[in-house]
Amino acid sequence: MHQLTLAEIARGLADKKFSSEELTKVLLARIAQLDPQLNSFISLTEDLALQQAKAADARRANGESGALLGAPIAHKDLFCTQGVRTSCGSKMLDNFKAPYDATVVAKLAAAGAVTLGKTNMDEFAMGSANESSYYGAVKNPWNLEHVPGGSSGGSAAAVAARLLPAATATDTGGSIRQPAAFTNLTGLKPTYGRVSRWGMIAYASSLDQGGPLARTAEDCAILLQGMAGFDSNDSTSIDEPVPDYSASLNDSLKGLRIGVPKEYFSAGLDPRIAELIQNSIKELEKLGAVIKEISLPNMQHAIPAYYVIAPAEASSNLSRFDGVRFGYRCEDPKNLEDLYKRSRGEGFGAEVQRRIMVGAYALSAGYYDAYYLKAQKIRRLVKNDFMAAFNEVDIILGPTTPNPAWKLGAKSSDPVAAYLEDVYTITANLAGLPGLSMPAGFVDGLPVGVQLLAPYFQEGRLLNVAHQYQLNTDWHTRTPTGF
Ligand code: GLN
Repeated sequence: MHQLTLAEIARGLADKKFSSEELTKVLLARIAQLDPQLNSFISLTEDLALQQAKAADARRANGESGALLGAPIAHKDLFCTQGVRTSCGSKMLDNFKAPYDATVVAKLAAAGAVTLGKTNMDEFAMGSANESSYYGAVKNPWNLEHVPGGSSGGSAAAVAARLLPAATATDTGGSIRQPAAFTNLTGLKPTYGRVSRWGMIAYASSLDQGGPLARTAEDCAILLQGMAGFDSNDSTSIDEPVPDYSASLNDSLKGLRIGVPKEYFSAGLDPRIAELIQNSIKELEKLGAVIKEISLPNMQHAIPAYYVIAPAEASSNLSRFDGVRFGYRCEDPKNLEDLYKRSRGEGFGAEVQRRIMVGAYALSAGYYDAYYLKAQKIRRLVKNDFMAAFNEVDIILGPTTPNPAWKLGAKSSDPVAAYLEDVYTITANLAGLPGLSMPAGFVDGLPVGVQLLAPYFQEGRLLNVAHQYQLNTDWHTRTPTGF
């Protein structure tokens, strides 16, 4: 039963082949048995899950239907979940039980989804390896000595290991797409403003966006359908109708113009990944797509701009964790300053502290113009490159990452080496564009992802292209040995 996709689960539940309660019990047992190897969960919510599963079964018995009614999922542990620890992977919030549900959590619960637990993540979503979590590193089910990617590494490892069919995640600079690539999943970062950020603990507010991680594009369509939509509680949520994502999955790709940026195939890209990307291009050509070389000339500036903007916003967002209102408080503070210093010094891990310092520096008087403002100008140039490209093509295709998943610890002492791995994903966040990563093959037994980018609000187009690709390839069906 653990091999079923969300789409298959919906059919099985509708046909009364099994109940949501039965399925939930099977998956909870599987998590108990296998997750100790992976460390993909921070909290399990067995009681909540069984209660939601029974309620979903009762709703189905009353004639209700719906693709998510009774479907087991998990939430990245930065979505506030009422009455449940919401730690953001940090000691700072180890004792924090959210007093309310994030909009995403509430919407999925209302659709009948069953929450099995909260997944592990890099502390405050800062990272690409899921090694900065206070709760320990997450392992990649494809090779337990390698990282699963980050910051949504827990969601990715759990879904890849078939502990559950799908999970929520967030992407500030690649944290949905990069772990999807590293674990052979399909992951979608929606347009900025498509999915509400209310109740999603902020890292960098102008970049953060929630989205689905699943095995197939078809399942991403189902989960995104439950997550997307306008929310008056989020001032950056966009009031744009949500299309039926499943309805466009089978649109023809005849004449689809795919742009391949020449800058993507530079020296930093593993040639074996380059070859797999070329294979995926050929596959899409067979389906009727037309390939065109394009240029994104400002791409080289994106990493430095991102690593100014994201830490600047993080330093501002994380100032609320001061040991006074909620979260961790140090023992026996001598005075107020000591309370602030020690609560923050003891509550935040090294990477978070590094970014708070970089961000505070970039925003400080005298440096604001030189760093933050400059970075914002680069951000506009990156966006303009995309706008020019989308005048000529419908989607942009390339690798999700320059290398496959690295070994645990390989980049821990060199943060910049890890930052450089974000080269292909970060630009979509700077521009606010939707992006998807899907399985495209293997290098040394480790999965490789191909990334698709589209104009604003064209999530449906991305899912359509990925679905057609998946109907004609079987990379996404491969299961890691031992799971
Ligand atoms: N790796 C990037 C960072 O560390 C992106 C993280 C994310 O998308 N949350 O900031």
